This record gives sequence, C-alpha cells and structure tokens, in this order.
Amino acid sequence: MNKTELLYTGKAKKMYATETPDVLWVEYLDQATALNGKKKVAIPGKGTLNRQISSLLFAELNAAGLPTHYLETRDDTTMLVRRCAMLPLEAVVRNFASGSFERKFQATHLQPLVPAVHEFYYKSDALDDPFINDEQIIALGLADQATLDAVHALSDRVNTYLKARFAQIGIELVDFKLEFGRLADGTLVLADELSPDNFRLVDEASGRSLDKDVFRKDQGPLQPVYQMVLDRLKGAQHV
Ligand code: ADP
Ligand code: UDP
Repeated sequence: MNKTELLYTGKAKKMYATETPDVLWVEYLDQATALNGKKKVAIPGKGTLNRQISSLLFAELNAAGLPTHYLETRDDTTMLVRRCAMLPLEAVVRNFASGSFERKFQATHLQPLVPAVHEFYYKSDALDDPFINDEQIIALGLADQATLDAVHALSDRVNTYLKARFAQIGIELVDFKLEFGRLADGTLVLADELSPDNFRLVDEASGRSLDKDVFRKDQGPLQPVYQMVLDRLKGAQHV
C-alpha cells in the first residue's frame, strides 16, 4: 500500500490517502507545538518516537478488544489506519489535577480526582479549542447523546487499561486527550494518536514529567524523555 494524495497537514502529523479508500497513511512529524501552535519547534527523532509509542499502545488496545483505527506500522514514522469521520471533539480524561484543571479551580497539583473527570473541547483552531459541554455539543449538532455516552464508556475503558499499563512501569497517568471517529459502517473507534504529546505522565520515583510538559515548560530536551517512556513500555511488553 502506498500514499497517494496529501489530505491534511496538522501540527504533529500528515494524513495521506492510499490506493484503498478506507485506509489512511499517517506520517508523524519531527515537530512540537504548544499554545495551539503559537510555540513551534523542530525536534529530530520525535516523529518516530511518537509513532512507535502510538503503534505499541494501539496494538495492545486492539488486542484487548478495544476498537481503534490502527491497522499496522509501515515504517519508522508511518502507520496505516482506518479512515474515520472524526468527531470534532477532544475527549480529555483526568485522574489527577494538573494543567488547565489545576489553574481553573486552583486545585492542589496532582490531587486525585475521583471519579475521573471527563471533559470535551471543541476542535477549532480559530476558536482556540474551547471547552464544550454535552448539551452544547448536541444543540450544535456535533454529536448525539448516544454517541457521547459511547465515547464516555470507551474513554473509561482506555483509561483503565492505560492507567494499569503505565503503573506497571512506574509511571502515573495524570491526564490525557483522546479523539474518536466513525468507520464507514458506523462503528465508533479510538483514532488519532497515543503518545506523550497527548498524555501527562509522571515518573513515580522522581516526580519528573515524562511528556510534552517538558517542552511546554522548557525543562530540557524532549527526545530522551520520550525515548525512556518507549523503552519502559517495550521492557514490560503486555501480553
Ligand atoms: P491537528 O489537526 O490538531 O494539528 P494532527 O497534526 O495530529 O493534529 O493531525 C491529525 C489530524 O487527523 C487530526 O485532525 C485528527 O483529528 C485527524 N485524524 C486522526 N485519525 C484519523 C482517522 N483515522 N481518520 C481521519 N482523520 C483522522
Ligand atoms: N491535550 C492535548 N491537546 C490539546 C489540549 C490538551 O493533547 O490540544 C492534552 C494534554 O496533553 C493533557 C490533557 O489533554 O494531557 C489535558 O490538558 P489541559 O486541559 O490541562 O490543557 P493544557 O494545560 O495542557 O493546555
């Protein structure tokens, strides 16, 4: 299978069509952005690290019976996925207070959140991805209640899996962002990416951030941190 037409250039990936209409070619870029793209830096090696971490976790979720878009790895920076009609939503799940939640509510840093907090953000660069609640989503016609319920349930299952998976390698899963889409037959699947660009991860031993906060907060080079996350995941491969 080969890439044909470039469909979309995003902040972290390029999406191409292939000869097969329902298969997309996803190329992970050596680029980091923050502040909705206002801060943008080239980081050699980042694309392959995020591709490798995403491939590993998507394959594990598929094997665990969670529906995802992932098909197979093509090369260092490329994977093949099922084409989806994406929900224009970012589904954030929080296990501990951090980031915008901590700022908004002046919560204690890393205070446990029980139950896990689910939030939606409307994917719109023009609007700066604003927070959006269930009624706003339904009233704007972005998704119906049944879809939101299914997204909630699937996000919880992904959270349960990933929390345990990271705990096994000494890492606390603080929060993360997921994106969902529908296949041509209507099946809802987890799509996009599963990498430290979209997770907050804290090393249980040192308390250090092992995710894009290193870049957001200028805490040093990001590449060795992502490499460590990948090495630990590979060192304790799930069966
Ligand atoms: P952004 O759009 O935020 O800059 P990316 O650089 O990660 O982000 O671009 C990837 C784009 O591809 C996103 O808009 C994402 O919603 C979309 N996408 C991810 N997986 C799929 C899929 N399986 N089918 C169709 N679109 C997808
Ligand atoms: N997140 C993301 N993409 C975004 C916004 C947030 O992947 O456009 C992830 C982020 O990495 C974190 C979680 O969603 O793991 C919650 O982010 P938060 O709302 O705290 O926003 P931030 O402080 O990162 O802007």
